[in-house]
Amino acid sequence: MILIKKIYKKILPEKLRINIRFLIKKINSVSYRGNQVKCNCCNKEFREFGSYGDREVKRVNAVCPWCSSLERTRVLWWYLSGSNLLNNQNKILHIAPERAIEKKLQKNNSIEYLSADLNPNLAMVKMDITNIQYNDDSFDLILCSHVISVVKQDKKALTEFLRVLKKDGVLILQEHIYTQYKETFEVFSADSDAERYKLYGAPYLQRCYGHDFENRLKDLGFKVKVINPAENLSPSEIHKFGFQNSGLLFICNK
Ligand SMILES: [Zn+2]
Repeated sequence: MILIKKIYKKILPEKLRINIRFLIKKINSVSYRGNQVKCNCCNKEFREFGSYGDREVKRVNAVCPWCSSLERTRVLWWYLSGSNLLNNQNKILHIAPERAIEKKLQKNNSIEYLSADLNPNLAMVKMDITNIQYNDDSFDLILCSHVISVVKQDKKALTEFLRVLKKDGVLILQEHIYTQYKETFEVFSADSDAERYKLYGAPYLQRCYGHDFENRLKDLGFKVKVINPAENLSPSEIHKFGFQNSGLLFICNK
């Protein structure tokens, strides 16, 4: 089995393997037939959303069986589709794009859309967000979900976002806030996966953001508005669209 996996990986390019993976998920979605929940990204209904994560941090009712959107992706789409950000030929930069949203934004003729990732197979262009290859004042909107917590120099990345945003531009950030921490927990000397796993619970994390996340953004020059879906929607809507565990939206203006 391991050998077959190795051959499969070697023969097929990464982009094709990703497409096959999503196609298999869509085929499997028939086992979720029902109408108890609804994904606002693909507008399909299911008896429940699928589970997501590994054994230690597994979340139930999280991932859309059809388009693979997560709670946070659906909340981002809820906010975007109710805003005026997706028109006027706005230039949009989407970092580490969530596929469920990327496909919709690519088809939207009212905007100029660009997705970016360190891995060129996962987006339209390759980009290191601590050194963005675009001029100052280039974008009206930047979307960045659960990325800066895995970037070693998060402040440098945020400063780059500030630089490439237009004067009235908006950055929408989503990050998990560890409510047990008043201040962001970060050990600068942790430079191995093993150390980071021990400290943060995941080897890819560079820190755990605490209650000071909003102030960290303000200190860099952003004006910040925090949107909590639970304060804007009823409990039945939160359940129907699977927004529980979605976290907050940090709407940052230049
Ligand atoms: Zn969906």
